[in-house]
Amino acid sequence: QPEQWREIMNKKMRFPPELISAIQEGKAELLSGLLKTGDGIIRQLDESEDRQWREALNLSIRLGNEDAMDALLQGVKFDFRQIHEALLVAVDTNQPRVVKRLLDRLDQEKGNKMDVRSFSQAIFDHSIDNSQFAPGVTPLTLACQKDLYEIVTMLTQKGHSIPWPHKVSCACLECRNGRQYDLLKFSLSRINTYRGIASRAYLSVTSDDAMLSAFSLSRELTKLSQKEPEFKQPQYLSLEQLCQEFAVELLGMCRNQCEVTTILNSCGDETEDALNEQAFEDGIPNLSRLRLAVKYNQKQFVAHPICQQVLSSIWCGSLSGWRGSRMAWKMFVSVGIFFTMPFLCLIYWIAPKSKQVGKIIKIPVIKFLLHSASYLWFLITLLGESITMEMYRETFASRQQNLLHSSFHMVWVVFFWYECKEVWIEGLRSYFLDWWNCLDVMVLSMYLASFALRVLILLKGYFLCSEMNGIEECAYFTETRDDWHQEDPQLIAEVLFAVTSMLSFTRLAYILPAEEALGTMQISIGKMIDDMMFMFILMIIGTAFLCGINNIYVPYVITPQLGFNETFRFLFWTMFGVVSQEYVDMPQFVVAEFVGRVLYGIYTLVIVIVLLNMLIAMITNSFQKIEQDDADVEWKFARSKLYLSYFREGLTMPVPFNIIPSPKAIFYIIPYRQQVIRALVQRYIESACREFEEAKRKIGNRITELNKTVSRMHSDMKVVHQLLISNGYSSNAFMKDGSSILGKYIIGAKNNFRG
Ligand SMILES: [Zn+2]
Repeated sequence: QPEQWREIMNKKMRFPPELISAIQEGKAELLSGLLKTGDGIIRQLDESEDRQWREALNLSIRLGNEDAMDALLQGVKFDFRQIHEALLVAVDTNQPRVVKRLLDRLDQEKGNKMDVRSFSQAIFDHSIDNSQFAPGVTPLTLACQKDLYEIVTMLTQKGHSIPWPHKVSCACLECRNGRQYDLLKFSLSRINTYRGIASRAYLSVTSDDAMLSAFSLSRELTKLSQKEPEFKQPQYLSLEQLCQEFAVELLGMCRNQCEVTTILNSCGDETEDALNEQAFEDGIPNLSRLRLAVKYNQKQFVAHPICQQVLSSIWCGSLSGWRGSRMAWKMFVSVGIFFTMPFLCLIYWIAPKSKQVGKIIKIPVIKFLLHSASYLWFLITLLGESITMEMYRETFASRQQNLLHSSFHMVWVVFFWYECKEVWIEGLRSYFLDWWNCLDVMVLSMYLASFALRVLILLKGYFLCSEMNGIEECAYFTETRDDWHQEDPQLIAEVLFAVTSMLSFTRLAYILPAEEALGTMQISIGKMIDDMMFMFILMIIGTAFLCGINNIYVPYVITPQLGFNETFRFLFWTMFGVVSQEYVDMPQFVVAEFVGRVLYGIYTLVIVIVLLNMLIAMITNSFQKIEQDDADVEWKFARSKLYLSYFREGLTMPVPFNIIPSPKAIFYIIPYRQQVIRALVQRYIESACREFEEAKRKIGNRITELNKTVSRMHSDMKVVHQLLISNGYSSNAFMKDGSSILGKYIIGAKNNFRG
């Protein structure tokens, strides 16, 4: 008995060396014969034998030899890790049937406590190190990366999923161990996981609302690229681009207007939707998905023709003729609105619901024109005030100025403040996300501060002088400007007002995107300001020379104009070539003069010839780049922002007339959003599969052509060979001839394959 046992133990399987070649040549009988020698249980021997078994299984899958694979799976008891790798190979070669069979096999293995989660544990597994797959790749992530919809569906149905990676700075035990065990492997597996999650196949198969998932994923990837700048360029940003493109392609699957409105008008969150509906004007859809896209910076999505069409149709409202009308007509209407603005507003005030005026004024484009007109009037008032100041120069120089003469603009300021407050209440955070709003608040606060200072000084002077005991202080308030303190409130108020009135004009930049040529130009200029980081380098070099040259000349008190201020002014104007060179002349002290002149010469060379020209070249370069690339997309994005801000409910009236409350709108919810999204995803998958089949067919054709060429080559070679033998050539000549024919054939086959 014990002898028999020993025999059975020894019969445990060893790897038969002929196995690989049997699989390669497809000899089924030999294969089954080889596998019958043992009892099917692999002996857990050394690493190399384990690897050989894996190779055998992988090879059979890679060759598409399903009989051999079946024989192997039946004859041998593979363990979990081996099947895992085989599964990767099957996914890699896109064989859904093999994947299914291997998955079934894994189900049987589940009795051995092998659950799906342990796929992700492969990061701690040394033995797969020499496999061809990157760390952290699971069958599902691999299928996702290759966009194999069928296999992804199969795997997700089996309960496979991609666990969401932890935060970059996560301090949980798993992450800490992973980081300590192998930092590179850890980050690579993170990126591979993201590659799976960001793939079209995963997004479309697993999520309810693929578009929204793509949006939020794109945002997360942008954030990650800032947190892990090492992997920013090729990895995260390309994945982010992929997400954006996917959302755009999904949108492109829309076939009718109904689908488009359904998609754009909801963002999945019911409460958010309801909030958005309240915020929007009566009869204007809430466009919450579109606004989400704007918020998440999905420029291509917003600039897509479908979105743009929806936006501009709402923008023009019932004035559908506006879009096609001529420039001259538009100008005429704009000028008309500019002059009749007060009357229009009065009529609206009296009869807000009237058909003619009330309805028309609520159309966004008219609203926009009214608001712009109001702003222009404000700027005109500012200019007018400057001119009046000149006319009453004497009174403005003293304390006797009339507050009314210079404070007409405050009418606008107060009402602008009111408007800002209104918008602000809607959402404080989203309000300050827009830089323009920040600028607005700053400018308005400065106006208010300046005005408050002037009122303050007026009241103080009035009360001090009306009381008898304050004679000395009263005298200060009656003196002329020359005797005031440097920090006198009136002086500060005037300076503040001057700066603010200049800043007020920048708000015009908010209006420019409405027009194409101006808008694109504005965006280009804005992008060029990015190059201004260059100024930092200029400043460093300038300061260095300022220090050096100043130190050379200051100790000599011969010329009176020497000093830090003077040197700075001298060097600054040298950049523009509008300064006399006498500053560096000092004939009495030769050494200092020489060194000073040399320094000055180097400064001129570096600043004027190198740096300024480089700045100009950089600006030209980036201007051209923007013109070519994305000025159009950027402009459409900016314009969409402008449009959306005018779709908002309320604030119909331009600024001095904006105290009329307007009724809140009630809108209806469209229930079948989910269905539409599913239909879009389905269409997308179908078209992607069609493309894939097409590509496969083309490659297949090529391969059969290649096979034909190769077989022709074989027969030709045979003929040549026989010819040579019969003619009795020397072996040397044969080699030469044969190799040239071979080379010709290979080149021909290559060209054939490429073409
Ligand atoms: Zn963690």
